[in-house]
Amino acid sequence: SDIPSSAPILPPATLGMLGGGQLGRFFVAAAHEMGYKVWVLDPDPNSPAGRIADFHLVAAYDDFAALDRLAAECAGVTTEFENVPAATLDYLAKFLPVHPAAAAVAVCQNRIEEKGFLARNGLPHGPYAAIRSEDDIRIANAGLFPAVLKVARFGYDGKGQARVADRDEALAAFRQFKGEACVLEKMLALDYEVSVVLARDERGAVRCFPTVENRHRNGILDVSIAPARGSACLRDDAQEIAERIAAHLGYVGTLGVEFFVCRGELFVNEMAPRPHNSGHHTIDACVTSQYEQQVRALCGLPLGEPRQHSVAVMVNLLGELWYEGGHADGVYREPDWSVLHGVPGLRLHLYGKHHARPGRKMGHFVVIGDKPDEVLEHALKAREAIG
Ligand code: ADP
Ligand code: MG
Repeated sequence: SDIPSSAPILPPATLGMLGGGQLGRFFVAAAHEMGYKVWVLDPDPNSPAGRIADFHLVAAYDDFAALDRLAAECAGVTTEFENVPAATLDYLAKFLPVHPAAAAVAVCQNRIEEKGFLARNGLPHGPYAAIRSEDDIRIANAGLFPAVLKVARFGYDGKGQARVADRDEALAAFRQFKGEACVLEKMLALDYEVSVVLARDERGAVRCFPTVENRHRNGILDVSIAPARGSACLRDDAQEIAERIAAHLGYVGTLGVEFFVCRGELFVNEMAPRPHNSGHHTIDACVTSQYEQQVRALCGLPLGEPRQHSVAVMVNLLGELWYEGGHADGVYREPDWSVLHGVPGLRLHLYGKHHARPGRKMGHFVVIGDKPDEVLEHALKAREAIG
């Protein structure tokens, strides 16, 4: 931000949130608990965060009249949506503190920039090629195949990705993506995946949450186990790499870093310039949540204690649960939540989204306890009971 925020932002100040999804909703809840008011900007009138905010500006992210209102009302602005135009963040930064800054968000919202950033800074990443034309595919290293072609911008939850066996399939997929800029990544044989969520303040102080182990289904995060099981050394290395990323980005706020573990080695997959799905459990199992850290970093308060006091397993609840049989052709009905409310150590979080569709993140639950394998078993049993 252009505006140095020397004095901390204190309650009852109003904070601005760009994006109204579930991550924004948890930020609003954390900010409210701490005595702040929150204005949310999101074009969707039913956005989960907008519905609980003090005021919901229903407008596009590049609506400058709406940005002017936000700037007039708020003492600081942050984001929960990595695709907010960098120009929007730059514009707001003329008037008030904006964290994270446009430059850091810009790196994370474009896979070509992101990979270039990792390469430039000597951070471990998988083999890839930037694809801007069909010729880039024709000259790509043969060793990249089989590969994943990913659109450089606006992909999420496995969308905008195609698994391609060879060059011809990559060309066909590139045409399907209408020639949009992409990265072509070698398909890695993953042992498993981990992530690190951290918070960094304006003075460069960093607090890392323990490394989390993640399981995906159909390209969407399914289950997180915190802390990650397996090698303690690998857990520490992941935190150290995430800290280096935050420092190189000059990052202020909550940052999520996803890693692949491949033959015992860490490769950065991608960064999220916001709280991360794999950090939901910090609400239930840590002294300070990733959302409270986002408030603290934005407001210039000292960062909170990230210590995790219980083992936690998080299970995402996707829209298919709302359909009998788990398919879009089944009868639409509310899942029977009563089977979850009696499970010891389980906390259910629903996002209040109006309509469930398959693949849409509707809520999650977290089970806390002592032993990772036991907690995981309880969590998976609980999921089976509703599904
Ligand atoms: P998104 O933005 O949708 O999260 P990711 O790049 O993280 O996109 O991909 C989603 C998931 O797909 C990853 O967490 C991983 O399980 C799988 N995946 C993505 N890229 C690769 C790869 N190069 N090799 C193996 N698996 C991959
Ligand atoms: Mg991802």
